[in-house]
Amino acid sequence: MGRVYNFSAGPAMMPLPVLKEIQEELLDYKGSGMSVMEMSHRSKVYQTIIDEAEADLRDLMGIPDNYKVLFIQGGATLQFSMIPMNLCKNGVFDYIVTGAWSKKAMTEAKKFGKVNVIASSEDKNYSYIPDCSDLPVDDDADYVYICENETIHGTTFQKLPNTKGKILVSDQSSMFLSKPCNVSDYGIIYGGVQKNVGPAGLSIVIIREDLIREDLKPDVPVYLRYSTHASNGSMYNTPNCWAIYVCGKVFKYLKSLGGLEKMNEINKKKAAILYDFLDNSKYFKGTVEKEFRSLMNVPFVTESAEKDAEVVAATKAAGFDNLKGHKSVGGLRASIYNAMPIEGVEALVDFLKKYEEEHR
Ligand SMILES: *Cc1c(COP(=O)(O)O)cnc(C)c1O
Repeated sequence: MGRVYNFSAGPAMMPLPVLKEIQEELLDYKGSGMSVMEMSHRSKVYQTIIDEAEADLRDLMGIPDNYKVLFIQGGATLQFSMIPMNLCKNGVFDYIVTGAWSKKAMTEAKKFGKVNVIASSEDKNYSYIPDCSDLPVDDDADYVYICENETIHGTTFQKLPNTKGKILVSDQSSMFLSKPCNVSDYGIIYGGVQKNVGPAGLSIVIIREDLIREDLKPDVPVYLRYSTHASNGSMYNTPNCWAIYVCGKVFKYLKSLGGLEKMNEINKKKAAILYDFLDNSKYFKGTVEKEFRSLMNVPFVTESAEKDAEVVAATKAAGFDNLKGHKSVGGLRASIYNAMPIEGVEALVDFLKKYEEEHR
C-alpha cells in the first residue's frame, strides 16, 4: 500500500521531502557513523543540530532577541501546569475558554491559584470565538490565556484579545507555523509539535525573558521551571533529540518554500477548497460560524451520526484516513496542516462530491 492522505488531528502528516531526507540520514548522519537516535546530546554534532533548529525557527517566526526558545518534553499538556506554576505572582489567572483544550488548561490552572473564566463559547458547543475586545480582565491577573486554534472544535482567533496590558499566553499547538505571527504580542507562545511540525513528545515554548523567574516557590520541581530549561539550553537532561532534529528539518523545509507568508497563502487556498464545498453542499455542513473557522481543523457533519459513520468508512476505504470527528463534536474532521498537499484536499472534495451525488 502506498501513502494515504492522512487527515489526522495529530500526530499528523509530515512533508514527504523531509521524511526522505531523514531516511537518507538514518544510518549515518553526515559522516558521524551513527544515527541521530544513537548520538550523545552532549556531542558537537548534536549541538549543531539543536542550534540550527533554534536559529531557523527564530528566522522563520522573526522571534525577537528578548525571547527564549525552549524545547521541553511532556507535550503541550505539561504546559497547562508549567504556565501557572511559573507565572504565578498574584495567583490570579484569566482564561478565555473556546473549546476542549482551553478548558483542560483552565481546569489544571485551578490547582495553582484563582481562575477567572473571562469569556467562553461553551453555550454553543464552542462553535465561535467570543468578542474579546473589552473583557473583565482582573487587575491582579498574572496572565490572560487563550488556545488560539481549537483543534477539536475547529475555531480560530482572527484577532487577539485585548488583555488590557496583561501578559498574553497562547497555545498554538494546532496552528504553529501555519501563518506569520507577531511574537512580541505575546508573553508565551507554545505548542506540542505533533500537529503541524514534527513527531510527538516535544513542546516548543517561546517565552519573553523577563517571565523566566528564579524566585519561584521552593516546591516547584526543578524540571518544571522555565529557568532550568533556559539556563541549560534546553539540555538540563537528555532532550527529545530525535524530535528536535526532525523539527529542524521541517523549519528548513518551510524556509525553502518561502516562509510563513507563503504557508498562510497555501493554507488559505487549501481551506477554501473544503469550506466552499461544505457551503454549497446539501449533504454536509460545517459546524463552526464562518468568521471563526480554522484553516487547520475542519469539522463537519451530515444530518445523522449513522450517516457520518458511513461516510467515515467510505473515505477510509478510498485512501483518506482519520476523518472521524472527535467524540465531543461528532461527525467528521479534516485536519489539513502545513504538510497536507493541496492535491489531498482536492481529492477529498472530489470524493465527497461524488458521495453526495450517489447518496442524495
Ligand atoms: C493536541 C493538543 C494539545 C495536547 O497536546 P499533547 O502534546 O498531546 O499534550 C494541547 N493543545 C492543543 C491545542 C492541541 O491541539
